[in-house]
Amino acid sequence: MKRIRNLFFSALLALLATTGCVNNGTGTTAGSSSSQSIADSTSATQVAKPKITDTISIAMVGDVMLGSIKPNYCMPPNDGKEIFVDCASILRGADVTCGNLEGVLADKGETRKRPGPLSYSFMMPTKSVQLLVDAGFDFMGIANNHIFDFWKEGTLSTIQTLKDAGIGVAGTKDCETSIREINGVKYGFCAFGHEEYSLRTQDTATVKRVVTDLRKQCDLLIVCFHGGSEGTSARHVPQGKEYFHGMDRGDVRQFTHMCVDCGADIVYGNGPHVPRAMELYNGHLIAYSLGNFATIGMGISAQVGYAPLLVARVDGNGKFVGGKIHSFIQPGRIGPRADAQNRAARDIWSLTQEDIKDNRLMIADDGTITCK
Ligand SMILES: [Zn+2]
Repeated sequence: MKRIRNLFFSALLALLATTGCVNNGTGTTAGSSSSQSIADSTSATQVAKPKITDTISIAMVGDVMLGSIKPNYCMPPNDGKEIFVDCASILRGADVTCGNLEGVLADKGETRKRPGPLSYSFMMPTKSVQLLVDAGFDFMGIANNHIFDFWKEGTLSTIQTLKDAGIGVAGTKDCETSIREINGVKYGFCAFGHEEYSLRTQDTATVKRVVTDLRKQCDLLIVCFHGGSEGTSARHVPQGKEYFHGMDRGDVRQFTHMCVDCGADIVYGNGPHVPRAMELYNGHLIAYSLGNFATIGMGISAQVGYAPLLVARVDGNGKFVGGKIHSFIQPGRIGPRADAQNRAARDIWSLTQEDIKDNRLMIADDGTITCK
């Protein structure tokens, strides 16, 4: 059950009563709480921006791919009903929960990729969206290198399936941003990848426009990005641009700092399939990669199997006040399982100390994050 900030909610109701301006939410019950509604973005200009009076908890995970039916059939046991069994209480306990959907949600279509050693396509059946709903996901980013695996039809099917389920979706030119009002707080969400069929981290003008515009329409702005090279040799955040097999994967330091400079409250990455460092930049948290989280049928060896679940708390100005990296690990095709050795948290802490100059974060062995 999502936590309701009574003070703030009461203040908002009083404001709505006095202005006579009522949000025209659709009253969807498909999300993780029946009180959630899809926000009318135009109302942002009609209602004075309320002040967030309490900290907000944001849960974030990296790649989510719940099993594929094409081109190769690889589905989890029991229709995936146990995938999130160890972590659903944490995902659902946060005020807002986000992930990266590494594949399409569709029931038909053919892959556009030719067979080969680097050729992977993922089609999740549309019914799998219920697993995301039940786990408590509020937003999914789709700006990644698999959202176009089954052509434009696959992308559109994914967007529609998520929207129909009440999950906010963003990351393509057809679907740049998502705004949802949850328990009285207006969340803005956008996502950037590195391919031409998504919004791109490399397209500076678009990044600035999307983030700046979204900032004006929401109380809290979350940016998800798919960027950087891949694999266990890509655990460190380099300076400058990154390439993977000759493909431009962006300059993630420059991109994330630009997002915060344009008004993002929190920025988190995925794409390398391994965890990376975290940084506090002007008081805002940047997680450079949360790696894989629930990737049924994908590689899970060494750090690729680490599955961090980051819960960050921010204040009314979106500044980071504390949080926790819950360490999970993928032992097979069953989803993330609690890791008693806290390997994801310890890995992120060691990478943070190595890669971030003037690091201002502390991460304890149990994953608790504090500011220095
Ligand atoms: Zn990817």
